[in-house]
Amino acid sequence: MPRPRAVLVAGASVAGPTLAHWLERFGMEPTVVERAPELRVGGQNVDVRGAGRIVAARTGVEEAVRAAGTGERGLAFVDARGAVQAEFPAVSRADAGRAGDGPTAELEILRGDLAQILHDHTRDRVRYRFGDRITRLDDDGRRVRVGFERGHEEEFDLVVAADGLHSGTRAITLPQRRDVRFLGLCLAYFTIPREESDDDWWRWYAAGGGRTVTLRPDRHGTTRAMLSFLSLSPAAARLSPDAQRELLRAEFRGAGWEAERVLDGMDRAADFYFEAISQVRPPCYANGRVGLVGDAAWCASPISGMGTTLALLGAYVLAGELARCDDHRAAFAAYESFMRPHVRKAQRLPPGTPRIANPRSDTGVRLLNTSARWASRVAGRLPAVGTRAVDVPEYVAPRPAAR
Ligand SMILES: Cc1cc2nc3c(=O)[nH]c(=O)nc-3n(C[C@H](O)[C@H](O)[C@H](O)COP(=O)(O)OP(=O)(O)OC[C@H]3O[C@@H](n4cnc5c(N)ncnc54)[C@H](O)[C@@H]3O)c2cc1C
Repeated sequence: MPRPRAVLVAGASVAGPTLAHWLERFGMEPTVVERAPELRVGGQNVDVRGAGRIVAARTGVEEAVRAAGTGERGLAFVDARGAVQAEFPAVSRADAGRAGDGPTAELEILRGDLAQILHDHTRDRVRYRFGDRITRLDDDGRRVRVGFERGHEEEFDLVVAADGLHSGTRAITLPQRRDVRFLGLCLAYFTIPREESDDDWWRWYAAGGGRTVTLRPDRHGTTRAMLSFLSLSPAAARLSPDAQRELLRAEFRGAGWEAERVLDGMDRAADFYFEAISQVRPPCYANGRVGLVGDAAWCASPISGMGTTLALLGAYVLAGELARCDDHRAAFAAYESFMRPHVRKAQRLPPGTPRIANPRSDTGVRLLNTSARWASRVAGRLPAVGTRAVDVPEYVAPRPAAR
């Protein structure tokens, strides 16, 4: 079977452009189709850890990622008056490999800045098509005929879904499956004006009632706010943004600390983003000539701190296996068997997640702050997150076939 050449990638965030970079490097012709009319630059801090750092370096973007870092100094738990209860400094560059990363990773960057860096790094070599999406896939075993929302059709050797948690491409290739598992937490991210009292720490306030308010620094002169609350249902994610704001106002009224300021800022925020935190667990990462990568394949959730690292690693390994193997079936199988253990580990969240970090009762809040204080004084850090010793395979571009 001839090696794949023309590859369609759905989604231009982290996994999509990284995959496109490596496909192009390995002699294939990637096209990236993104549903949004332009690159989406919203979102908050994402972490590039361990294997993700290695892939970023090999991709040639590590220094740009480092330079765009948020400058966050670490995580501080605060009480209703803003008094610090416990502090966990970010790991230093020297410590990163040895200690395993803490809650603030060594390479901490805004998701939008990372997407921009990857897009800038690839745009001259990769075809990007914004404002379109896949609506039909006909895989006849030799090629895939793709129907697009804008009406045209085109053939590709392979299609890869890198279109995130709610991947429409995954839904087409693996229909009638319920692979998205809600974790019982809803959250909203948005940007608010920075105030003098804001510092360079990620401040975490457990307000009780299952609610949490956090503020994080960025390098754009603004502050990134997050509101999260325990919920029995993911239905709020399907409401309109106005209805979601209304829900948050009702949930967080009188919650203490900076909640009122955050609610005020929310009404004016242009980048309001609401999500029902979930994991994705499909039975396989490929069906015929259609593969899955990043959150579309295995979303571990923002709670894991591993979504971006796994997206970088998965994209690199998928492209590498397509270059190394004789056909796409062997490549998809090798890719899946490499990724599964890392995904399993990242999806295994600590027992009690997300309830422990979002306590309902005053006693739960006190217990969280006391445990954090104890962990910061005795251990000096929270349990390490991330892929510690991952052997990231080396791949070489295949030789062109002899004529
Ligand atoms: C706007 C946004 C904000 C985010 N904010 C945060 C955050 O603050 N913290 C955090 O931990 N994680 C956040 N994430 C998720 C985070 O980016 C991922 O967990 C991780 O980086 C893996 O990325 P990914 O490329 O696999 O998927 P994603 O980052 O989810 O990207 C998927 C991309 O596919 C596009 N897309 C969706 N459907 C289609 C379709 N049918 N056809 C074509 N394209 C499609 C989306 O517009 C998006 O650009 C955010 C994601 C998005 C899209």
